[in-house]
Amino acid sequence: MTNEKGRIDKNCVGRFAPTPSGEMHAGNLLCAFLAYLSVKSRGGKFLVRIEDLDAARCPRSSAQKILHTLHRLGMDSDEPPLWQSERTNFYSEKEKALRSVARVYPCFCTRAQLHTARAPRMSDGGVLYNGACRNLTREQTERLRALHSPCERVAVPDCDVTFTDGIAGNVTQNLARECGDFILRRSDGVYAYQFAVAADDGESGVTEVVRGADLLSSAPRQIWLMQLLGYAPPVYYHIPLVCDASGRKLSKSEGDSAMRLVERMPPESILGALAFAAGLTQKEKPASLNELVREFSWNKVHKDTILLPPSLCQP
Ligand code: GLU
Repeated sequence: MTNEKGRIDKNCVGRFAPTPSGEMHAGNLLCAFLAYLSVKSRGGKFLVRIEDLDAARCPRSSAQKILHTLHRLGMDSDEPPLWQSERTNFYSEKEKALRSVARVYPCFCTRAQLHTARAPRMSDGGVLYNGACRNLTREQTERLRALHSPCERVAVPDCDVTFTDGIAGNVTQNLARECGDFILRRSDGVYAYQFAVAADDGESGVTEVVRGADLLSSAPRQIWLMQLLGYAPPVYYHIPLVCDASGRKLSKSEGDSAMRLVERMPPESILGALAFAAGLTQKEKPASLNELVREFSWNKVHKDTILLPPSLCQP
């Protein structure tokens, strides 16, 4: 199999990693679609990972709907999907490995203490941690531990992480100034997204990550963690914001369900509409996954906002 440039790389591995906290919308579907086309156009492997770390918020039924939607469109995972909720032992092994090369410390700060009006913010709106618990003495730690359970944070160095995103271009983030010591494991014992993603992408041999631009600022943390864990970081493509035909940002809670799309439209019409929305075709017309795989090139993909055609928007 070749794409227009004839580049074949059977070792490339892509993935789609939805959080099944609600229904997938057409924007999530577009990420899965581009992740799939990108690796398949080079003869590579496509994986699906269910990011249900927060099991209480992620019912199994939502994940099944996502898998069903992907299946209807022919975008099945080449390996049995990984479920993050079943991987706690693996994460704790990786946490041990991380502790041998980085400082991980308990943090007892409450939400109220962290979210003060004066707290500096990160570019994604999160609070930049002020390091209050970084240097607690053993006695202080024991005293606080008796009162409530801490989360675990990893101490970041004052260093720049730089990478070239396939869509956003060059990105540099200073970990200390723009990210701060971040959470590895929540106080309820659940591993945090950043850590689980880095460990899973690394362990699965993922070579490229295609996902929404809202996660662009997470990439430097994940690259840094992957390097510490001894994994090669992937190439990233952060897809621009996906809006409906009227320019409204899509959201899971507003009922733009990809599942409903596959119920009301034939797969080839959905695939053709996604290809048109992404910029891969000039006209909206039904298309098979195979022909889209053959024609795929990142050069064609829109770099600014992606507008969904009316056919993909709910009436
Ligand atoms: N689970 C994340 C989401 O559904 C995506 C994580 C990723 O692709 O790295 O938003």
